[in-house]
Amino acid sequence: MTAYMDHKDLGNETIDEERARQIADGVRGVLARIAEAEARAGRKAGSVRLLAATKTRDVGEIMAAVDAGVRMIGENRPQEVQAKADGLARQLHARGLELGRDVPFHLIGQLQSNKIGKVLPVVNTIESVDSIELAEKIARRAVMRDMIVGVLLEVNESGEESKSGCPPSHAIDLAKRIGAMGGLRLEGLMTIGSHVDDEARIRDCFARLRRTRDQILASGAEGVDGCVELSMGMTHDMGIAIEEGSTIVRVGTAIFGPRAFI
Ligand SMILES: *Cc1c(COP(=O)(O)O)cnc(C)c1O
Repeated sequence: MTAYMDHKDLGNETIDEERARQIADGVRGVLARIAEAEARAGRKAGSVRLLAATKTRDVGEIMAAVDAGVRMIGENRPQEVQAKADGLARQLHARGLELGRDVPFHLIGQLQSNKIGKVLPVVNTIESVDSIELAEKIARRAVMRDMIVGVLLEVNESGEESKSGCPPSHAIDLAKRIGAMGGLRLEGLMTIGSHVDDEARIRDCFARLRRTRDQILASGAEGVDGCVELSMGMTHDMGIAIEEGSTIVRVGTAIFGPRAFI
C-alpha cells in the first residue's frame, strides 16, 4: 500500500513485556494529568474522556493501551483504520469488549471523499468534518447503508494555514446544516490547538471553541441538541484544554512515546 505503511506491520498483535509496560505507564500518567486538570478546573472527575491517538502504532501497542484503561481510539488515516480494524475487533472480543460499542473508534485525520467508503463500516465518529461538501458525501453514504455516523465539526481556531478545519466564522452555520442532515449525528466540535509557545493564545482558541459550541446549543436549531463534545487538547496542551472545557483529549505521544515514523 502507501509508502509510510511499509515501515511497520500495523496489524501486528504481539508485544514484548517491556514495551507493554512503557505504554501502561504512559496511560497511567495521562489519566493522572487528566484527573489533576479536572480538579484544578473544578470539573467533575470523569468528565473528560481520553482518546488514544494511535497513528503509526500497531494492534499490539493499541491493545496494551486498552489493557491499561484506554476506552476510545482515534486514527488519522483511512488506510490505518483498514489495516487495524479486524485485529482490534478480534483482540477486544477476546477480552469481552466490542469495538465501537465499548471502545469507540474515531477518525481524527483529514478524510478525502474517495476514502469515505473505507472508514464507514468501522468508525463511529468522524471528527474531521470541515465542509458541507464532505458532510453531504458522508451523509449520502450513511443513508445508503442505513446507518447513522457521528460527526464532529472541525474548526480552525488557530487560523494557521497548515491546519484543516472550517473558518470559525462559518462554524455555527455549518453546524446547523450538518445537524439537519439525515444519516449524521452532530456530536460536537473539534480543534487542533495553536502551535505556539504563548499559552494565552492556545487558551484563547480553546475558549472560543467552547463559546461556539454553547452558541450552537443555544440556537435550538434542528439536530444540534447533541452537539456537546469538545474534542481539544493533545500531549502538550491537554491541561489548558481541560481547563477550558474539553470533553475529549486526543493523546498520542504521552501514551506511546515518539512516533515510529511520520
Ligand atoms: C497525532 C494527533 C493527536 C495526538 O498528538 P500528540 O501530540 O502525539 O499527543 C491529536 N489529534 C490529532 C488530529 C492528531 O493527528
